[in-house]
Amino acid sequence: MMSMPARYAVIGNPVAHSKSPEIHAWFAAQTGQQLSYERLLAPLDGFERTVREFIAAGGCGANVTVPFKLEAHALATELSPRARAAGAVNTLSFSDGRIAGDNTDGAGLVTDITVNAGVPVRGKRVLLLGAGGAARGVLLPLLSEQPTELVIANRTVDKAHELAAAFRAGGGAGGCEIRGCGYGELQGRFDMVINATSASLDAELPPVDAASFADNAFAYDMMYGREPTVFLRFAAQCGAQCRDGLGMLIEQAAESFRIWRGVRPPTAELFEKLRG
Ligand code: NDP
Repeated sequence: MMSMPARYAVIGNPVAHSKSPEIHAWFAAQTGQQLSYERLLAPLDGFERTVREFIAAGGCGANVTVPFKLEAHALATELSPRARAAGAVNTLSFSDGRIAGDNTDGAGLVTDITVNAGVPVRGKRVLLLGAGGAARGVLLPLLSEQPTELVIANRTVDKAHELAAAFRAGGGAGGCEIRGCGYGELQGRFDMVINATSASLDAELPPVDAASFADNAFAYDMMYGREPTVFLRFAAQCGAQCRDGLGMLIEQAAESFRIWRGVRPPTAELFEKLRG
């Protein structure tokens, strides 16, 4: 009897727009792995049921996207340290009744910045805009790169304070000075400014000032698209080197693939293909 390829999926609502099936099919072809990867639209009140049905049907693992990353965190029977720090899960692995949860978003961001863009985080003053799920998810991997200073600025100031305090208390900050503030309280100039707000989705600019960008700063927007986002256009006017979140999307997928299949797929060619 022919064995069936291992089954994977991305679970979300909506999910039709997800590029993950295309990305994982490309990784599988490049690495010679036999697997299938599908989109699963879970009802808003039916995430756990969708996961359990997928496991019963032979699913080996799943990526989780909006709005289920917190539910995936709660459903996991074991968590990686970075998933625990993120409070959210984007990668599930199923075996022997266990549901392992991981979060590869931060690793994806750090790989895209340090390897693909070739810009070190170590020793830098970093400004992280936003204190939502994406910001929280990338904090531990970012801090592991040992910036000297990390400031979280958020519209709802309390959330920035809480996030900074949580990482200080958890010991995740290492030797890095980490603090939260509102946009109006921002002081000093930053070598790296990372937009983890969802403002770009509405073509809005988070209220960050040109004075926050150091000379030759590096600006990153987690959002990506055909055209540069409003934030990246502004950052370019401030003289920053700019990069959008397409590489983060590909690298977080590559890290999920590595967790599931034990092989790290190549990513450079896929980046060019999707950019095109
Ligand atoms: P959340 O809804 O959890 O958080 C949104 C954040 O954006 C909050 O901090 C919110 O501030 C802030 N915000 C929203 N609108 C504005 C505005 N007009 N001005 C200033 N701040 C604003 O979203 P996520 O954290 O999950 O996602 C954030 C972004 O990251 C999205 O664009 C998403 O597409 C992207 N992303 C990209 C990934 C990739 O692989 N490239 C992976 C994951 C996310 P407040 O708290 O005050 O409401």
